[in-house]
Amino acid sequence: MSSDLTQLGVKAIRDGVADGSFTAREVAEVFNANVAAAAALNAFIVTTPDHALDAADRVDADRAAGRPLGSLAGVPIGMKDLFATKGVQTTAASHILEGFIPEYESTVSQNLWNAGAGMLGKLNLDQFAMGSSNETSYFGNVISPWRKTGSNAALAPGGSSGGSSTAVSARLVPAATGTDTGGSIRQPAAFTGITGIKPTYGRCSRWGIVAFASSLDQAGPMARDVTDCAIMLGAMAGFDPKDATSLDLPVPDWAGSLNADMRGKKVGIPREYRMDGTDPEILKSWDDGIAWLKDAGAEVVDISLPHTKYALPAYYIIAPAEASSNLARYDGVRYGLRDLPEGAGLQDMYAATRADGFGDEVKRRVIIGTYVLSAGFYDAYYNQAQRVRTLISQDFENAFTECDIILAPTTPTAAFALGDKSDDPLAMYLNDVFAVPASLAGLPAMSVPCGVNKDGLPLGLQIVGKAFDEQGVLNAGLAIEGRAGFIAKPEKWW
Ligand code: GLN
Repeated sequence: MSSDLTQLGVKAIRDGVADGSFTAREVAEVFNANVAAAAALNAFIVTTPDHALDAADRVDADRAAGRPLGSLAGVPIGMKDLFATKGVQTTAASHILEGFIPEYESTVSQNLWNAGAGMLGKLNLDQFAMGSSNETSYFGNVISPWRKTGSNAALAPGGSSGGSSTAVSARLVPAATGTDTGGSIRQPAAFTGITGIKPTYGRCSRWGIVAFASSLDQAGPMARDVTDCAIMLGAMAGFDPKDATSLDLPVPDWAGSLNADMRGKKVGIPREYRMDGTDPEILKSWDDGIAWLKDAGAEVVDISLPHTKYALPAYYIIAPAEASSNLARYDGVRYGLRDLPEGAGLQDMYAATRADGFGDEVKRRVIIGTYVLSAGFYDAYYNQAQRVRTLISQDFENAFTECDIILAPTTPTAAFALGDKSDDPLAMYLNDVFAVPASLAGLPAMSVPCGVNKDGLPLGLQIVGKAFDEQGVLNAGLAIEGRAGFIAKPEKWW
């Protein structure tokens, strides 16, 4: 079978397997080969070719026997290494979890296997999903398959789901899982010319996902286009009694209800997102998006989200606070690494394990989080940030009395070079400026590719919707996708 199968996305593979154009095994084999040939990108921490082949064989056998096929039957995917996968090392890209083999499967990954998907491997990420460039991984950074025109400099694939974004855009996988705490699906999607959606908080179960900031963490799909994301999100989402914040709501047929007709819809353009320092090409892409949605029949209205400028500082208090608490469990007793110096006691073991096991960015977050939760500073920082979070949610509630969805850039710049921001945490954190508000408010938000800049690098537009209105977000994304005509792909150099 031709290696052209790796050019296909989720829907094309699923439909081709179902109608007998090719077998699921052929699909798994060509993607396994692409994964094996792309070690230079460092997108995977471990590869699991047999998982993909076994799932494919089950689908082929089901089809031969005339049994019903799931919505992802025959589609091999990449799994961010933040999801616990039974019998397969799960590290969160941290030394402290190296060698941890879970005894259980996360709910989201189990849902995907139940829908007929298989796993090509565990994807690299920023350590504990903390970062925007993939440079905080213990297993080495991922390299974006993209390069500036006329340059060989290595670019960041975005973060934290940088293995996912690289694998999808380099055609190593048709789709991948991501998680988004403050932009980690949307920003890497924008940097690599792919599509990714973070659903409403609670849509996807967090059970079995390594926790970063529990009130913000959400799983979502990263794929080639809006339709593929809609199909995959449908398989991932659903109520789970094992997650106390899981939404007890039916999962709509998002893929079946896709509709790019925007007549009767109002699109809000938040004036506070026109920030100083935003790349003029990003602002131009935003104007293009506005024109496309108008062309699709939408009415465009000016809106205000007045507390936008406080979102980033609030996020960088709340997320580290929750992280410092979530990461207390890594102490050398139960999981992964244990450093027990000669003659040491329990406290020494904790200290040695954590000093050795956590990377610098993770330590920075634990220290910040512990500080903002400490008795003397709790009111000044943590409580204040929680109040700001409420105001940001109210901003969105007010805005959504005037519009149905919101359109904004995903990131303030296109992909930057590896090493460019790694010594300056604040510059790195600024990447998330447009992504974090929707996270704090728990709203569905998506990034869709909208064009390339003068250097030939992809840019993304962000669509934010009302709580539970993934359909509205996906539909607006489809309207943009159909008009942007984005076909750029990274040229293969690896
Ligand atoms: N880049 C942000 C951070 O470092 C967001 C990460 C994420 O969404 N997981 O916290």
